Amino acid sequence: MSELPLPPESRVLGRHLGAGGIEVSPLAWGMWRLADNGRSAADAAKLVHAALDAGITFLDTADIYGFDGNGGFGDAEVLLGEVLAAEPGLRDRMVLATKGGILPPLPYDQSADYLRKAIDDSLARLKVDSVDLWQIHRPDILAHPQETARVLDDVVASGKVRSLGVSNFTIHQTAALNHLLGTKLVTTQPEISALRIDCFENGELDQAMMLGLTPMAWSPLGGGRLAVPETPRDKAVAAALDSVAEAQGVSRTVCAYSWLMAHPAGIIPIIGSQNAERIAESAEALKVRWTRTDWYAVLVAARGVPLP
Ligand code: NAP
Repeated sequence: MSELPLPPESRVLGRHLGAGGIEVSPLAWGMWRLADNGRSAADAAKLVHAALDAGITFLDTADIYGFDGNGGFGDAEVLLGEVLAAEPGLRDRMVLATKGGILPPLPYDQSADYLRKAIDDSLARLKVDSVDLWQIHRPDILAHPQETARVLDDVVASGKVRSLGVSNFTIHQTAALNHLLGTKLVTTQPEISALRIDCFENGELDQAMMLGLTPMAWSPLGGGRLAVPETPRDKAVAAALDSVAEAQGVSRTVCAYSWLMAHPAGIIPIIGSQNAERIAESAEALKVRWTRTDWYAVLVAARGVPLP
């Protein structure tokens, strides 16, 4: 008997931020690398258009993007702000997400005063009145979640932020903050790729399904390693993806995005490419169909040992 593909529901065409929240595209585009190499606002605008034209309307940035170890804090938001100021109609075509809570050289800060100012500063750099999703970038273990929850509820009530998410939180950190928030979390953003598979078995995705959080996968190509695999493990994962990619007439990277999207938690891969053709191509991930056999073959290649 031939195996049935996983149901299309698991690649949901329209995703939402949390249960019944803001509608977003099934892929997001990330701007971690937007301000690299002194990119101009005109060139940044071309990338924004490439994403929107490909149907990728969920855009993810952060206040720290652009920071290179010495300076550049806020540069990616400033650049997007220039794009939006030059073409104000773009704002309505996107669901805009940003993050804060990391301030170099101090590692992480979620004190109420810091967060309030960080959110105001992001809005000023982006030249917008509000963002659709604001995420805590990394957990500050010195902040009591009650204090963090209070300020986050305030910014939602003020209209500056429409919804809330976390990134790089442990399961218990997510649960504690969510418990104390009036406006519940709608997203979680861990690193997930065919090279970073912890989430599939450590309970993070199960928690996301339990709490109705939409998982956003950062570095879905392992920061590009899946495009140019070097280690034996990376090559084995690439080979497992290639066999499905070749059969379905897509590139390995497109196949890598679709592998994440086949998970029932409704993972949204955040495309990291800053190349217009690659951004456009990523939308082909919607047409790839996975069987359990093929999906688990990629997982087994990533584990490096057979399933028990
Ligand atoms: P990625 O998709 O894993 O890697 C993208 C990199 O791979 C780019 O430098 C890209 O270069 C390169 N690449 C090489 N060949 C490629 C190909 N054939 N197709 C596509 N890309 C190829 O993603 P990422 O940039 O590491 O991360 C994606 C997003 O995740 C970020 O923009 C950010 O929004 C988010 N993120 C979040 C966190 C967090 O802590 N929450 C951390 C890191 C990232 P080109 O640009 O030349 O295509």
